[in-house]
Amino acid sequence: MVLQHGTAGRLCIDLGALVANYQLIAQHVAPATVAGVVKADAYGLGAVPVSAALYAAGCRHFFVAHLCEAAILKPHLPIDTTLYILNGLPLGAEGDCVAVGAVPVLNSLEQIDSRAALARTMGRPLPGVIQIDSGMGRLGLTPDELAILRISPERLDGIDLRLVMTHLACADDPDDGFNERQRTAFDAIARQFPGVPRSIDNSGGAMTPGVGHGDIVRAGIALYGGAPHGQPNPMRSVIALDAYIVQLRTLEAGAGVGYGLTHRFDRPARVATISVGYADGWPRHLSNRGSAWIGGVRVPIVGRVSMDSMALDVTDVPDALLHAGAPVELIGPHQTIDDVSAQADTISYEILTRLGKRYARTYL
Ligand code: PLP
Repeated sequence: MVLQHGTAGRLCIDLGALVANYQLIAQHVAPATVAGVVKADAYGLGAVPVSAALYAAGCRHFFVAHLCEAAILKPHLPIDTTLYILNGLPLGAEGDCVAVGAVPVLNSLEQIDSRAALARTMGRPLPGVIQIDSGMGRLGLTPDELAILRISPERLDGIDLRLVMTHLACADDPDDGFNERQRTAFDAIARQFPGVPRSIDNSGGAMTPGVGHGDIVRAGIALYGGAPHGQPNPMRSVIALDAYIVQLRTLEAGAGVGYGLTHRFDRPARVATISVGYADGWPRHLSNRGSAWIGGVRVPIVGRVSMDSMALDVTDVPDALLHAGAPVELIGPHQTIDDVSAQADTISYEILTRLGKRYARTYL
């Protein structure tokens, strides 16, 4: 099959698999509800189509990180959804957030005060979420701020508290004792907000057996097919990525390839230059260590990954599969995003969110 010309390759996003993953998480956490974490353009897969598919499957809560993301996504979401902003708001962005109609996560007393002040000015309650730092040390109210809030609860006047949430630092390892410490700390603190729904878990927390999942889980990577914990991965693969062969050549033993000639062949070699490089999100760290697949044959990346291309040693691939335009599997049945991230010493989140804009995208 010859791929569409003029792109870096073809990125197929299987929305059916995404929905199957949503349903698997929902089963696991019931009666809690699954929210879709669609920040960073749904981890690079397209926040608008991903949210639409999740909505059709029953999802009504969506999380982005920034107000700018909310402003783009909100007009595409049906009226019966709630869109939250995880990073909260910088001071001065309150008015814009009301105009967008998103619900900010309030991560500090300062943010609470600013939201409450705007609510008083507007003469109507404004929705908000409180995040508690239960031990990750990243975002959310600190124990000192919670103590202040306990003795001055009127600071929340004007805020329609929709959710109290925290984030687990070690949820990708269900055996890590820190998860239980955070859950216990959060349970104790959340009592300060009686009757308010609770949210604790990301994908890893949601797929952890034998724990309570609160009212809403915030699922990201598992929806997109990444492993919530280690292997085996119970989620369905959502993306397939093919590059294509740009040019083929035969190099002699002793010849080098790519910038710096960092790989030299110890035998005569067939080399395929393919259409994906680091500008397309393929980590340069995979130079001389990553792989791709052609017709079920594993082919190593040789030399440095360039901006728009990289080279593969295809000496062992049958000739019939080697021609300009022929597809090369980068992510697919032989090589998952978790495999690629392991080769690149990173996490599947980084591989996904860096996939560039030069692919022809197909939604199945
Ligand atoms: N909740 C918060 C606060 C996050 O920052 C993230 C992602 O980084 C998520 C939920 C989703 O996490 P995951 O992709 O591991 O499900």
